[in-house]
Amino acid sequence: MKIHEYQGKTILNAYGVRTPAGRSCFTVEEAVTAAQELGGEVWVVKAQIHAGGRGKGGGVQMARSLEEVHQHASAILGMTLVTHQTGPEGKVVKRLLVEEGADIQREYYLGVVVDRGAQRVVIMASSEGGTEIEEVAARTPDKIHKITVDPVTGLTRDQAQDLAARIGLPDSTLDQATDLLVALYRTFWETDASLAEINPLILTGNQDVLALDAKLNFDDNALFRHPEFQELRDLDEEDPNEIEASKFGLSYISLDGDIGCLVNGAGLAMATMDIIKLYGAEPANFLDVGGGATTEQVTEAFKIMMRNPNLKAILVNIFGGIMRCDIIAEGLVNAAKEVHLNVPLVVRLEGTNVEKGREIIADSTVKIVAAESMSDAAGKVVAAARG
Ligand code: GDP
Ligand code: MN
Repeated sequence: MKIHEYQGKTILNAYGVRTPAGRSCFTVEEAVTAAQELGGEVWVVKAQIHAGGRGKGGGVQMARSLEEVHQHASAILGMTLVTHQTGPEGKVVKRLLVEEGADIQREYYLGVVVDRGAQRVVIMASSEGGTEIEEVAARTPDKIHKITVDPVTGLTRDQAQDLAARIGLPDSTLDQATDLLVALYRTFWETDASLAEINPLILTGNQDVLALDAKLNFDDNALFRHPEFQELRDLDEEDPNEIEASKFGLSYISLDGDIGCLVNGAGLAMATMDIIKLYGAEPANFLDVGGGATTEQVTEAFKIMMRNPNLKAILVNIFGGIMRCDIIAEGLVNAAKEVHLNVPLVVRLEGTNVEKGREIIADSTVKIVAAESMSDAAGKVVAAARG
């Protein structure tokens, strides 16, 4: 689950990570009031969307008067912000963060992630903050410093201080930076985050170290441990198809291709996407209907896939284990009838009672192309999509 910058900063503050003072706002009037209450002479008006690169896209603006706060808030609220992370269609801005302006002397990068290979939390830090870390990694990988955290000890102060020194934070700020790093690690650990990124971390003219930006993602599988995060969810920022799918216990992720896939089991779903690519086409989605694959689920899955204007064909690849193939075949036929499928449907069934299942499909009035193996299915669906 992703959350907004202002929500992430509130959580980070609670753990002791310092950020500029700020307020979240939904209207222009709220933005002006927020600036008034914050005081000072310079403010930053920041679009709140679940994507980075807002600065380059015009979603982060400095204001030197309340009139300018008004102007920027009016311009940003409601704008369609396009960044390298939103895709070309962009995102409509519905919330703002108004912050006191920071006097930036230097920008750094901090990121906390899980390194699956090492099975450890890794903290990455760089003197090259503000820019995209992917670019730094590609051009000057030696400027990214990493430390691996032992889960028993957590991030030690020595480790944190060493990392802060390695990215060139001045000696006089190392204590502060160490506090911030330890607090950032604790936030990551205790909230079951999958990513905690501060880009940029800044050194101010007063030699303070602050998190100027904040990106926190949480591990969905651990959300049950944090019921308090439920209210941070912003459904406006999520793919409506993915929300709809989750209501029916379907794991669905939209992709760019034109071949819809409906599969039971995440591993089989991945293998199905791979083989579609092997046959020269691209999957339109990842879809795991789980072990059950009931008629209701399959019907919903078809409906969701059919909303995609790029869809050219659907491949159903189901392994009947606990759920027998004949039951699945009946469900598929009923679902296909109910939704009036308007693209070719290729079905590959395997497992318990597969013969019965194939008979049901062959005898049905719905036009279904039966396939035997994974490669047979992939070949047939790619051919069907190309008409
Ligand atoms: P992102 O583009 O979505 O990552 O948004 P950020 O919050 O990282 O802001 C982008 C850039 O705007 C930062 O790297 C800063 O250079 C600039 N910026 C943001 N807030 C301030 C501020 O208070 N003062 C100054 N001088 N620059 C700021
Ligand atoms: Mn940023």
